[in-house]
Amino acid sequence: MGTAAPENQAPTAKPQKKYFVVSADCHVLEPPDLWERRIEAKFRHRLPKVEIDAKGHKALVVEGARPLRIRDFNLEGEDLERAKGGRPDLAARMRDLARDGIDAEVIYPNRGLLMWASPDPAHQTAMCRVWNDWALEFFGPQKHRCAPVAAVAPKDVETAVKEVERVAKLGYRTVFLPVQAQDQPYNLPLYDPLWAAIQETGMPISFHVGTGKDPRTATGNGGAIINYVWHALSTAIEPVVQLCASGVCERFPKLRFGPVEAGIGWLAWTLWVMDEGYKKHHFWVAPKLPMLPSDYFRRQGFATFQDDPIGLETRRWVGIDNLLWGDDYPHHEGTWPRSQEVIDRTMANLTEDERRKVLGLNAAKLYGFEAPV
Ligand code: MN
Repeated sequence: MGTAAPENQAPTAKPQKKYFVVSADCHVLEPPDLWERRIEAKFRHRLPKVEIDAKGHKALVVEGARPLRIRDFNLEGEDLERAKGGRPDLAARMRDLARDGIDAEVIYPNRGLLMWASPDPAHQTAMCRVWNDWALEFFGPQKHRCAPVAAVAPKDVETAVKEVERVAKLGYRTVFLPVQAQDQPYNLPLYDPLWAAIQETGMPISFHVGTGKDPRTATGNGGAIINYVWHALSTAIEPVVQLCASGVCERFPKLRFGPVEAGIGWLAWTLWVMDEGYKKHHFWVAPKLPMLPSDYFRRQGFATFQDDPIGLETRRWVGIDNLLWGDDYPHHEGTWPRSQEVIDRTMANLTEDERRKVLGLNAAKLYGFEAPV
């Protein structure tokens, strides 16, 4: 605001970076022909494809999901930069990380978020394997900074267990499961062999939002916001309650899990009402557990957020060790390339120790990044 920079100081000088920063939620745009090239031939004709209707409207048609209308927006400035970000170009990606002060990142697919849209578990598995074969290899030259996630289709449990064992051997550091498990919810004991296999590998489960079911259900007035808040973000509550209330965490005490990109403002409330239901509806509740549902979350759960000042105010209810910041690069709801500004704005009330944890140390511990001493 109007103070001139002293002559001996460049006016563009940025404040010195102070924290080790891990973004626990980033994306890469896969090579455009990744699945077409690599998937088993029998699934090739079922892959997502662009279709043009009689009126000339373009749409991405995906098995199991509503057609996604492709519109050409006239984006400018940083909106345009975000739209062009995340391409499969490692050198460009490293420049984008440096520009935003990010030291390491956990990387999710982009189009690949649709890998669980099909109701056919064999199709899901085939798509996930293509991603898993590609991502670790692609990020290999930067593996100390870049941890891609291993996508697993959970519905056919026996196949899922084999894939978990395979990706652990390849060197993956986290299992990505869809946040919504379609018609086979995560509280069912039939998943026990999968939880056992994941626990055995030591990999945490990351439930990135917008996966498993089409998050676009509303249309028309307010649709973009209804779909974002209600059909994409709020669905993150489901796996948290399913794992904490059903005895899964009791049976698998070393299993770590957390929703990704859903923010954290809802989390303290969820922990509170899980316990309220457990106590006040005790006559309906089964199984009875030695700890309250919220205790299991505090012991085993985590959650990521980008720009959530309200959620940060509730941290004493959730536990600072369970909160992980992420920039959601390069998506529009994320913070890139202004992460440092968002951090300054939303974390002013946090202690130094709290900031160090949510910005990097919690993620380093969970996902196995080497943090500077
Ligand atoms: Mn994300």
